[in-house]
Amino acid sequence: MIELSNVSKTYGSGADAVHALRDVDLHIPEGSIHGVIGLSGAGKSTLIRCVNLLERPTGGSVTVNGQEMTRLDGQALNRARHRIGMIFQHFNLLTTRNVFDNVALPLELMGHNRASIKQRVLPLLKLVGLDDKVQQFPAQLSGGQKQRVAIARALASEPAVLLCDEATSALDPQTTGSILELLRDINRTLGITILLITHEMEVVKSICHRVGLISDGRLVEEAEVGDFFTAP
Ligand code: ADP
Ligand code: ADP
Repeated sequence: MIELSNVSKTYGSGADAVHALRDVDLHIPEGSIHGVIGLSGAGKSTLIRCVNLLERPTGGSVTVNGQEMTRLDGQALNRARHRIGMIFQHFNLLTTRNVFDNVALPLELMGHNRASIKQRVLPLLKLVGLDDKVQQFPAQLSGGQKQRVAIARALASEPAVLLCDEATSALDPQTTGSILELLRDINRTLGITILLITHEMEVVKSICHRVGLISDGRLVEEAEVGDFFTAP
């Protein structure tokens, strides 16, 4: 489902080169929730952005939903990205669009008509528990509600994979819990494979099946979540 093989990413060159990823191998089976944890600067963000090619790896291969992503560009890359949703720490909503129109955006870009957009957006807003906020603007919402909008938007194009980039890091512990519960529901009921990166141990403990530790660009440990946190 998500397969990284020998992936490296170097920013800059010569004396300024930063080796953000070094020979990363990662296999995430369909339907699982996989966490990658690490300190600031370890390479987490680079790693997750290499999955949908927001960053192009300098070496290695990235296969998602059976497609070798690094071979794609233009329209083919766009189409592959529709099958990969992403959510962010700061939600990245459009402030000038209301909740409905934020979730509708990917469908508009894909050329859906208004009726089919409505048919898709309203059930998604119900799924994330915001069917009573359709007309609100992002500024009128709490952090947790904003992340719910972002999740609905990420699901609009019916992705098989959801990438979560520090998705709960801007939220208080209680709201974090409710967003993680929603992600777990989405994984269970829709079968969507989830890759999440975080610096928060608790996040990984509470929803991940497997977890890897990234340090200085290398995935240095990987295990079932139960084994990972068991004291030696
Ligand atoms: P994390 O998400 O774990 O904090 P990042 O992937 O953001 O780690 O960063 C890994 C390393 O790559 C860091 O040393 C960071 O400074 C560097 N880096 C990240 N993005 C860029 C960039 N666009 N240009 C140059 N260096 C970068
Ligand atoms: P279909 O995919 O058969 O056309 P719908 O799009 O009407 O069915 O989805 C049925 C319900 O399941 C909706 O409430 C929708 O929110 C949810 N759903 C189904 N597939 C997905 C998906 N890939 N991502 C997000 N939500 C989905």
